[in-house]
Amino acid sequence: MGLRESENIRVIVRVRPLDERELRRGEDENISCVRANTVQVAEQNGKGKGQKSVAYQFDRCFGPECTQELLFEECGVLPLLDHVLEGYSSTIFAYGPTGSGKTYTITGTGSVDRILRNGSGDVSDGIVIRSVEALFSKVASRSPLTSSMTCVEIYNESVLDLFKSRDKQHLPVKFDTMRGCFFVQDLSYGKCASEEEILKLYMKALKNRSVAGHELNRDSSRSHALLTLYVDSMEKQEDGIVTRHGKISFVDLAGSERLEYSKSEGSTLKETGAINKSIFTLGKVISSLCDRKRTKVPYRDSKLTQLLMDSLGGTSLTIMLACISPSNTNLSESVRTLEYASRAK
Ligand code: ADP
Ligand code: MG
Repeated sequence: MGLRESENIRVIVRVRPLDERELRRGEDENISCVRANTVQVAEQNGKGKGQKSVAYQFDRCFGPECTQELLFEECGVLPLLDHVLEGYSSTIFAYGPTGSGKTYTITGTGSVDRILRNGSGDVSDGIVIRSVEALFSKVASRSPLTSSMTCVEIYNESVLDLFKSRDKQHLPVKFDTMRGCFFVQDLSYGKCASEEEILKLYMKALKNRSVAGHELNRDSSRSHALLTLYVDSMEKQEDGIVTRHGKISFVDLAGSERLEYSKSEGSTLKETGAINKSIFTLGKVISSLCDRKRTKVPYRDSKLTQLLMDSLGGTSLTIMLACISPSNTNLSESVRTLEYASRAK
């Protein structure tokens, strides 16, 4: 591709609006997007000392007024979809503390039932729904497309198939030596030939996720949800038909608030057992992909990065979407999120 891999990774920040409760409490907005690529944090320096502000730069940032439609058009997911149609892999993941807008951004707020009944087309539809729509409308003008999909949840480093509502045992992750990548044994693949079929399966998976969370007494903010769409597109050329196999993964990560940071090394992450092993390792994978000195990329160290091994780095395009609240009460968590995201660049 001739590009440095760090140029294949875009880091985006989205600052959500204050919610009703925060507004009622009269909370201040301490974080704002001051330019298209700059997030400014006004840090309180204790009583009477006034404020100092710190600026962070990213590829793009979006403030509280940004609609789902604008975010979709400008966050860079459209080039990822083109890349997938050309037969490559892409990954988009939402990172941030619980309540910062990850699920809103990836999926949207439309209730599962509303989408099952009426399909997409709501202003609150998130990136997955808009991407599926865009894939099919892009392709309709070009060539036929078939696809299949998988949905898994990773909780405490165990993998659960979200298409199976009954057997909720963990599936083993194995290494495929022929293809040089990891796979989930016995995982179900949903076949889907239309936008509606994909959305239906995705909504069923989300429903199973909340039921499983309930039955197994799991806190869903502690699990990662991973939707992978395998897209096979065919293009007629003069000398025959060319088939391309691409894939895109959408990842709604567990809340980042339980990550521990080591005091001795400033805000450097430190590993604290299995619960956040996947987020911890994802951070290390991203920063080693961006590091020009190129250390060994630690894909093997967590389930999430094993599964994303062939979709992060190499010829893959990646968007890291860091979500934060603007409120002063969440300030330290937001600053940690901005720092995690800045280190990715
Ligand atoms: P997370 O998945 O990070 O825990 P959610 O996506 O569930 O957070 O968001 C928390 C709440 O804030 C939800 O009620 C959601 O609808 C709302 N919300 C998040 N981001 C936005 C936004 N950009 N605009 C409007 N409401 C939002
Ligand atoms: Mg969520």
